[in-house]
Amino acid sequence: MNIIWARTVALACLLGAVAAALGWLFGSKIGFAFAIAALLLQVFFNTFHAQRLWRLLDAPVYGEVPSAIGMWGEIYYRLYRLAKRWHNQVRQVEQQHNRFIQAIQASPNGVVMLDEHNQIEWCNAISERHFGLNARRDVRQQITHLLRQPEFVHYLAMHRYDEALSMHHMGEQHNNVLSVQVFPYGDNRKLILSHDITQLERTETMRRDFVANVSHELKTPLTVLSGFLETMKELPLNEEEKERYLDIMQRQAERMKNIVDDLLTLAKLEGNTLPPVDQRLDMKRIVKQLGIDAAGLSNQTHDISVDCESGLAVLGSETELQSAFSNLVSNAVRYTPAKGRIKIDWRGTEDGGAIFSVTDSGLGIPAQHIPRLTERFYRIDRSRSRDTGGTGLGLAIVKHVLTRHQAHLDIKSQEGRGSTFSIVFPASRIARDQVQGDAATASSASRD
Ligand code: ADP
Repeated sequence: MNIIWARTVALACLLGAVAAALGWLFGSKIGFAFAIAALLLQVFFNTFHAQRLWRLLDAPVYGEVPSAIGMWGEIYYRLYRLAKRWHNQVRQVEQQHNRFIQAIQASPNGVVMLDEHNQIEWCNAISERHFGLNARRDVRQQITHLLRQPEFVHYLAMHRYDEALSMHHMGEQHNNVLSVQVFPYGDNRKLILSHDITQLERTETMRRDFVANVSHELKTPLTVLSGFLETMKELPLNEEEKERYLDIMQRQAERMKNIVDDLLTLAKLEGNTLPPVDQRLDMKRIVKQLGIDAAGLSNQTHDISVDCESGLAVLGSETELQSAFSNLVSNAVRYTPAKGRIKIDWRGTEDGGAIFSVTDSGLGIPAQHIPRLTERFYRIDRSRSRDTGGTGLGLAIVKHVLTRHQAHLDIKSQEGRGSTFSIVFPASRIARDQVQGDAATASSASRD
């Protein structure tokens, strides 16, 4: 039997027995009056607690349990236990919900949740940045009232969401590209995921331009080569003509080889591990050799001088830096007319770094070209670059090498008066001898 029934029957039996005993001792009226009074008390007690329970259920206060004797005490206690269990469950769900929101907020993607009428239900911080939304202000707003781009409105209306949509001119600066995709879920609801692909697009454009440039650069000498081959095959040529044609063909073949070599150098630089920081380069020897090489390249037609501070070494990869230095020196020779001056200089700076610079009195560079010189295949005068064996990749290689050594290229130039290309090394890449040597000036390699 249920415990409440058992208690009620036991209490009724007890009160009945007491009423019978009182009736037997003091007469039936007294016994009857006691029974009525006990019954009324019981009714009053039950009504009082029923009303208390009613009020409690109407406006529950968590943690407050009324106390009572008997079965009402049991009822209140069980109610309290139930409320506690529910409260714990609600807290767990709340914690899960918060963790879920935090995870979506931490995602690098923008997330917007739409209801069945395409109204915003919720959006994360990244989507606010991507679409210029405001999570509080824009809740319950139609998404198409806020994202009015026709391509997006059309995409949303078409209900074909297999492919993502690329949206341009997005973000706070209006210069980002977003990949946006809709994922339907639940009862006609939608999830919009956005992903910033600006960098990816830029890389893709660069890759396309690069492939087009390489093809173009290789196509020109190839066309010349095949043209001459055909001429040689079809026309009877005398020895002198043959010699001249073979000469031209050899130059074109060399040009292609130079381009391929430079491309391989760039590829190698991109794939290589970072240059060492404990390899000291003997700059005195390197600078002296650069002077000798410049004199050889110039065929003694330039006035070449070399200045080198002693006791100052670079820490890094000798092959890479040697190629960067040589590129600047060979450019100076190639873009300086005969009788011009070229100076190679190596010296320390006040902040503990050092500068390698090559100054020439050559053609100079118009200011608008300077920021673009390190782009691959960028040339001011194509034919001059080509005629002197240039590939248009030299300064791109230099920039790459310098970035890997935390150094940078500084270009100062005046059109018609000459240029100075300086490689600026930070203190972290320079090692100084304990006893600083005097700034020794090596004599000009060309005059040596
Ligand atoms: P290139 O193989 O054509 O020389 P670079 O990348 O070395 O390619 O140089 C890019 C362009 O920068 C050159 O085509 C040239 O127009 C310009 N340039 C580089 N160095 C000098 C310089 N010392 N004086 C004038 N122009 C220069």
